[in-house]
Amino acid sequence: MQALMQDRPLTIPHIFHRAERNFHDKRIVTTTLRGEVSNTFGEWSARVRRLATVLDELGIPQEAKVATFAWNTQSHLELYFGVPCTGRVLHTLNIRLFADQVAYIVEHAEDDVIFVDRSLLPMLWPLADRLSTVRYFVVIDDGADAEIPDDPRIRDYEELLAAAEPFRGRFEVHDENAAAAMCYTSGTTGNPKGVVYSHRSTVLHSLVSLTVDAVGLSERDTILPVVPMFHVNAWGLPYAAVFAGSSIVFPGPAMKPDALLGMLERHRVTSTAGVPTIWMGMLPMLGDHDLSSLRVVVGGGSAIPPALSEGWREAIGIPITQAWGMTETSPLASAATPRSHHEGLDAESLVRVRATQGQAVPLVELRIVDLDTGREQPWDGATPGELQAAGPWIASAYYGDEGTDAFTEDGWLRTGDVATMDEHGFVSLVDRTKDLVKSGGEWISSVELENAIMADSRVSEAAVIAKPDPTWTERPVACVVVEQGARLTEQEVYDHLRERVAKWWLPDEVWFVDELPKTSTGKFSKKTLREQLLGGA
Ligand code: ADP
Repeated sequence: MQALMQDRPLTIPHIFHRAERNFHDKRIVTTTLRGEVSNTFGEWSARVRRLATVLDELGIPQEAKVATFAWNTQSHLELYFGVPCTGRVLHTLNIRLFADQVAYIVEHAEDDVIFVDRSLLPMLWPLADRLSTVRYFVVIDDGADAEIPDDPRIRDYEELLAAAEPFRGRFEVHDENAAAAMCYTSGTTGNPKGVVYSHRSTVLHSLVSLTVDAVGLSERDTILPVVPMFHVNAWGLPYAAVFAGSSIVFPGPAMKPDALLGMLERHRVTSTAGVPTIWMGMLPMLGDHDLSSLRVVVGGGSAIPPALSEGWREAIGIPITQAWGMTETSPLASAATPRSHHEGLDAESLVRVRATQGQAVPLVELRIVDLDTGREQPWDGATPGELQAAGPWIASAYYGDEGTDAFTEDGWLRTGDVATMDEHGFVSLVDRTKDLVKSGGEWISSVELENAIMADSRVSEAAVIAKPDPTWTERPVACVVVEQGARLTEQEVYDHLRERVAKWWLPDEVWFVDELPKTSTGKFSKKTLREQLLGGA
């Protein structure tokens, strides 16, 4: 028997119209190079309606890819809605990639037009002639005075909006499985791969982000997404925030710790999210700010060292809530919000809970699988396996890429992460498959070793990489950045580690470096470290 419910598609226009009707008085603040700009959702939605007309007038076909090369700003949020609400596909480009990678991605995606912040134009324009599919570069005024080339492909965002009649009526997208947005993985191995999100996946992902055991955003929240809007759609938070009607604070190009702390304090921000490097940068300054409004600080993208989360808890009373995901998982797949059975645990055990990647959020399924036998591993908190994911916002294939071993025969995503799971499904990431150190037939977790090294207050950052070894296959080498003003010797690192890890885990060498190379999304770039220190091994 069929049910008797209305079959309505789950699409981004619904999120837009709800915000336009219900939350027109809520605020969006953006930091620009000219200072802060504050608008209402009402003003924002009126601009989205003009943008819809602009896209038509530029002759951008349905389903064409509309790229952005932009900071976290209100205008970026206009594109987040104007593009998919009119049946086009939003393609957020990572502004921190090398020119060749940007060119590769734009060509691969066949972007039709790129909306670019004026301050970023000098990075993009030298590539213009290589981007054969791009007909227009629409420049968004962000207060920068970067030179604008005299070229017929250049258009001005504000001029186009001012001249356009607002689209009237309701945006309609009939097929919830139509593409809404795409994002490329940052290509730590091989070429970047395109992940294509649907309207349906975006709506469901946003809804679950709003649940209390995930990020729990509500209308009463003010969110500051530090995670860039080109990094997996700022983890979906812009869509979730508009869905909930939360006030939004966009940092624009002001990504320095003191600027971000000023915004958190001034706007009484309640929720914020970013990669650990951001939270590390702020840690020494937390005491200088009133952050009493903060309710949740989400960290993800790489493991949150317990010392970092504890540092935040000691300074402002709330730890960092760890979440795990990847471009292919939209990205929210699990979150480490403590459960009722964790209540009353001693401090040390709670630190261990927060150091996990948490439990799968609703609608996502996770399993761990033995890489050799392909058998599912028990949830005993000890047996590792490759983490695999399934769910309505998990990728089923890559854009234009047929040959990949990233998906299993039964349609699960192979994440390339190795993890254990406890009896309640709390995931503990052991490592990424490619970062594990294989020593004498056993695995050493580079993540665990790094966390142990970073537990020393004299260490500001540490990364462990594998060095080829004739006897043991590989041995760990630690790269350590010493806290400013502190002194640390190799011997002291060993003394500290001896109490925390097995003897055979002790790194063969400790290298002190001034800083660790970071990827375009702010993670330790072990690939670059390996190239720098081991000559490309
Ligand atoms: P890439 O790191 O290749 O640029 P993504 O940004 O999609 O691509 O990152 C996904 C990867 O980031 C995951 O597979 C995992 O290795 C790592 N990651 C994400 N969140 C966490 C976390 N909370 N703890 C540890 N690793 C994480």
